[in-house]
Amino acid sequence: MVTITARNELNIYESAEARFEVAAQKLGLEEGLYKYMKYPNKEITVYIPVAMDNGHLEVFIGYRVHHSIVRGPCKGGIRFAPDVTLNEVRALAAWMTWKCAVVNIPFGGAKGGVICDPSKLSMGEMERITRRYTAELTEWIGPERDVPAPDLGTNEQTMAWVMDTYSMHVRHTTTAVVTGKPLDLGGSHGRKEATGRGCQFVCDKALAKLGMKCENTRVIIQGFGNVGSMAAIMLHRAGYKIVGVADIYGALYNEKGVDIPALLDWVYGKHKPLPEFPGGGTKLSAHEVLFQPCEILLPAAVENQITSQNAHRVEARILCEGANGPTTAMADEILEKKGVFVIPDILANAGGVTVSYFEWVQDRQGFFWRESEVNERLQDVMEHSFDEVVRYAETHGVNNRIAAYMLAIDRVAFALKLRGIYA
Ligand code: NAD
Repeated sequence: MVTITARNELNIYESAEARFEVAAQKLGLEEGLYKYMKYPNKEITVYIPVAMDNGHLEVFIGYRVHHSIVRGPCKGGIRFAPDVTLNEVRALAAWMTWKCAVVNIPFGGAKGGVICDPSKLSMGEMERITRRYTAELTEWIGPERDVPAPDLGTNEQTMAWVMDTYSMHVRHTTTAVVTGKPLDLGGSHGRKEATGRGCQFVCDKALAKLGMKCENTRVIIQGFGNVGSMAAIMLHRAGYKIVGVADIYGALYNEKGVDIPALLDWVYGKHKPLPEFPGGGTKLSAHEVLFQPCEILLPAAVENQITSQNAHRVEARILCEGANGPTTAMADEILEKKGVFVIPDILANAGGVTVSYFEWVQDRQGFFWRESEVNERLQDVMEHSFDEVVRYAETHGVNNRIAAYMLAIDRVAFALKLRGIYA
């Protein structure tokens, strides 16, 4: 049994493991299956030599972890960041397995990362890192093996390079090798908005469950990148009042509501700093905004934001985890005692991987859907998954997070038993 102590509270691998262990115990998972699922299937380390623009040769370290292929090919993003570690990639790969199982899509979990600082790299250097990383992994990725996607520090352009490099190696264009591609290269309508839109669908469900109305619901969103900004505009359009927003530069809090369309134009159209948005509200730090009055708190930035040190200060009735791992395992109990209704990350932000699954299906069919079809199918998956998690929580007398893990582990264990262990 992993016991999380203050010393290792911020280690996300241990946080993920602690929740897995609680859920596995509650399920009464047999020891063999428990061991099988606890460890990754494969961990690959690659050393990536890259000619830098200044003529020097640099070697970057990259990882790809396959956590599970039990329910289908592995699926998971590629992260480019200076603080990537193998432990982090392992935790994120396991989360992908549970996330895909919670929303019942036919994928296992993977994750990749390269230790580099995209803010210090030119486009050419980024391209060379991406292509060599992909070339090193050619035998381990593919539409039936492992399907990467963007994550922190990577984007549609990075995925286009991955697709092209893989295609050159296998000698034919293979769009289904990655998702999150540009629309013109086999990307899907609605992918960019999918994670934020999925957050809106589960917030709508939580409100209905708790007898709340969106017009009386104040929302604080930390992170204004893909997930945060899309969640903000979706919730705004649905009638919620967004009272707090934050990015890495700082936060704004405004009881009257922040004008989200104008803020999007300010940040993405005019490329101005979020905290300088005229008339936006009171300036706060990106951390302090988490503890302001609201009904929904939606962290959509980075890990370890709500911890045992600050969870008692959360004022929200609902915590919708847009980011992966924004809450530590030690904070879970505090939130539960406070009666916060948690929509855990492996459910709340699963809209992204769900539409990635739709992209993979469309690429393999060579037939593309209208955006309304993508959105309708996404809504169906998110609402159904929310109902299943809440029902599981009520039936087993556990919180929503443990229920989501139990549901996921149970599905993977069932598939594993059907397949059997290849000797
Ligand atoms: P992004 O890079 O587009 O945006 C990140 C945002 O967070 C930016 O606005 C940045 O300024 C802000 N930020 C960074 N550090 C911060 C800090 N310390 N305090 C406050 N704000 C900070 O990334 P994204 O794709 O929106 O991903 C955000 C989170 O959601 C990550 O945890 C990611 O793994 C998770 N996620 C993303 C997707 C997806 O489809 N993009 C899907 C599932 C989960």
